Amino acid sequence: MFNFILFGPPGSGKGTQSEKLIAKYGLKHLSTGDLLRSEIAKKTPLGLKAKKLMDKGSLVPDEVVIGMISDMVDANKGAGGFLFDGFPRTIVQAEELDKLLKARKTQINIVLAMDVSEAELVKRLLKRGETSGRSDDVNEDIIRARIAEYHKKTSAVLDHYQKFDKVVHVKGEGSIDEIFERLTAQLDRLQKKKD
Ligand code: ADP
Repeated sequence: MFNFILFGPPGSGKGTQSEKLIAKYGLKHLSTGDLLRSEIAKKTPLGLKAKKLMDKGSLVPDEVVIGMISDMVDANKGAGGFLFDGFPRTIVQAEELDKLLKARKTQINIVLAMDVSEAELVKRLLKRGETSGRSDDVNEDIIRARIAEYHKKTSAVLDHYQKFDKVVHVKGEGSIDEIFERLTAQLDRLQKKKD
């Protein structure tokens, strides 16, 4: 099994690159943002609760996303591996993910961290807001709140995986194809080392 985390602040291009990466490597894409938006679309109690937090730019509680991820990992036992996108976003989530994978005799192989300047993030998210229909993309205050949550709670996830020497930084600016090349170069390098 080959599992990795595509890491980066809101607007760093995780969703876009994930689509291309799962097609190339045959992985199952697990995006907590997508899973939460699907709960919102279905108007489930979980979705209604999550929407209130997401619309403010806050994170939803750890146990909610951990539960969703755990269910999805179990529901996809035959997968060749998982690409985690938007998860883990806190140290608690990272520790729980490690435990969950260990119990299934697997682990995170690499964390690819996409670096993008804050000015570029805000620009991209406002542009996405023009068409995405996402209520957390329309207003600069909410976008800044999401980036602040990232600095306060999520960037520490990198320190966690750095301890295990699993983090590789990739420049997240340039064309979609250029960034994809940088990401695949790292994944191919790691897979060769494993063989
Ligand atoms: P982006 O990376 O552009 O912010 P996402 O789709 O990954 O978009 O997440 C949107 C929102 O969903 C977040 O702002 C947060 O409220 C919630 N969310 C997604 N993943 C998590 C998570 N792992 N933990 C807590 N909240 C999450």
